[in-house]
Amino acid sequence: MAHLYVIAGHGAGDCGAVGYGYTEAERVRALASRLSALGGGNVTVADMNRNWYADNGIMSLNIPKDWQILELHMDSAGASAKGGHVIIKEGYNPDQYDTALSNFIGNFFPGRANKIVEKNDLANVNRAAYKGYSYRLLENGFITNSGDLSKFNNRTDELARGILSAFGISAIALVASTDQIDGAIKSGGTFQDKKDVFGSVSYQVHARDIGWACWQSDGRMSGTTGQNRRIEAFRLIPVGETDVVVHIKDVGDKEYKNISKDTILGTTGQNKRIEAIKITGKDTPYIYRVHQKNIGWTDWTFNGSWAGTKGKGLQIEAIEIMAAKFLVNPHVQNRGWLDNMK
Ligand SMILES: [Zn+2]
Repeated sequence: MAHLYVIAGHGAGDCGAVGYGYTEAERVRALASRLSALGGGNVTVADMNRNWYADNGIMSLNIPKDWQILELHMDSAGASAKGGHVIIKEGYNPDQYDTALSNFIGNFFPGRANKIVEKNDLANVNRAAYKGYSYRLLENGFITNSGDLSKFNNRTDELARGILSAFGISAIALVASTDQIDGAIKSGGTFQDKKDVFGSVSYQVHARDIGWACWQSDGRMSGTTGQNRRIEAFRLIPVGETDVVVHIKDVGDKEYKNISKDTILGTTGQNKRIEAIKITGKDTPYIYRVHQKNIGWTDWTFNGSWAGTKGKGLQIEAIEIMAAKFLVNPHVQNRGWLDNMK
């Protein structure tokens, strides 16, 4: 049995390939989470907030040389291209894990002529070889093929078990985890824009199984709706001095004074939903609203007031924030803009 070290491809603002409302970065993180949940202590997942290609992380990685690195991706092409395969370094012979993995993935996602492909031009393939790590990159079908994608989405645990089995790891029986408290994530629903969109007021959410999503701004939705996917934290690039209070599961109200763009408002890696937020701009007032489980969108809320409910155990799933000064409709200004925003 091997110890598996899982790198989820893309991330940290790079959403990877997209298809049918899904992004590669989010999907491979969901898979990595299941590998971790099912593989228990035999699986280590590399920090999913990072982009391990862009930040050159393998060059400074320090893990045991007998750990097996697996980097997760999904392919993209025209809608008819389908199938999964394993990529290893050119000139290397596939080891027992590569062979078992390619046999599994070729059966699970059929369609590729070659189940193992050797490459000499992929950065992480070469970096791992340089460092002497045993590494392979797994393409989990095509996100652009509806058949591959729905198989990925609907049979994620089966996919995870097959991958683990290729490394000799048998999936553990699942015990109740904190995720069960918020219920299972659903497929479908609405996912935010898949590219960074910065503006006058920019913000970014950290969502369950996704990590940091792309930045959004000026009233654009950050997060998801209809997926039962909690937000665990967010960041906000402040416009002048800004205080934020977040109501966090098990923690209660947590106040962050004079935030910076790097202040993590909430928690990461602790499976704790946020349930309500209060943003107070000292220089520029904000307005904001949240999409909450079982409730939907709240009304727009003015600077310094709570959006969301506290004490009902309901996760926030999406947020929208903008500066109040950008409301320029004179009709609204005559009446007071709060009325208009309902
Ligand atoms: Zn990729």
